[in-house]
Amino acid sequence: MTAKLIDGRGLGLRVRQQVAAEVAARTARGQPPPGLGVVLVGEDPASTTYVRLKTAACAEAGFYSIQRNMPATASQEEILAEVEALNRDPAIHGILVQLPLPAGIDEEAVTRAIDPAKDADGLHPENVAALAMGQPQVLPCTPAGVMEMLHDEGVAISGREAVVVGRSNIVGRPMARLLLQEDATVTVCHSRTADLGAITRRADILVVAVGRPQLITGDMVKPGATVIDVGMNRLPPAEPGGRGKLVGDVDRDSVEPVAGLLTPVPGGVGPMTIAMLLRNTLLLRNTLKAAQVTS
Ligand code: NAP
Repeated sequence: MTAKLIDGRGLGLRVRQQVAAEVAARTARGQPPPGLGVVLVGEDPASTTYVRLKTAACAEAGFYSIQRNMPATASQEEILAEVEALNRDPAIHGILVQLPLPAGIDEEAVTRAIDPAKDADGLHPENVAALAMGQPQVLPCTPAGVMEMLHDEGVAISGREAVVVGRSNIVGRPMARLLLQEDATVTVCHSRTADLGAITRRADILVVAVGRPQLITGDMVKPGATVIDVGMNRLPPAEPGGRGKLVGDVDRDSVEPVAGLLTPVPGGVGPMTIAMLLRNTLLLRNTLKAAQVTS
């Protein structure tokens, strides 16, 4: 068997085109465009690239966007002040603070400062609690993108064994909750899990979000399983000054002959995260507008 590769680039583009079409229709009716405010602190190369891709996708979809670049030396108070300014800005419907923040900044306090009604990443405790209680409002972008891929591929979820490797607040935990929400039997693995392979081999759906290059090998995968590789890891460059290869947490060479469906890296989950950010911001704009009309 050779796994079919899930084309995250193609699906991400389709989602962005749907969002762009809705924005165009609404702006043609005289409504202001959705607005996304992005806060980037410091110059981490990966974060800078993600923010550039996100703001470019916003522009392409007809969004209004503001990008606040702050130096790595910015204080917690300065960052909170930026978030507050975006909370108050009526042209901004979604706010994203690019994580990770520099050492010494309390990420949780910054996330809490975002108005939950403008929480484009779905990471505010109010939105996390809503998801945990089975009443999701705005969903974290990466796990939402994974669910979109599973739906688009027609993967059966209800009653199937799903294993999520990784329990971060950004990916692993919300991923497990979303799979549970759709009636999968979910197991979450982490760094203390004993005999990881014995558990991953049970999975009909295996989602890996660890940040360890090629951790999951073919012998850890059930034949025919759907394998979603969230990991994005840069290998050391072959030559000094070169750029290392981008790989996932799944060893593609050994997993591709075993799995039924597999997301490539790059071109899998990454483009979906950006597409879901746009969809979230549009949703927040529409719900915010509705709340303003009814209040
Ligand atoms: P994270 O916050 O560092 O969490 C990593 C998780 O993996 C932790 O729960 C950790 O367990 C677990 N873990 C570490 N070593 C393990 C091992 N040997 N076996 C089993 N579990 C292990 O990472 P994250 O933010 O979730 O990101 C994970 C990966 O996804 C990274 O490569 C990141 O770049 C990528 N990512 C990609 C996208 C995208 O759009 N494609 C978005 C977000 C993240 P403990 O909890 O026990 O420490």
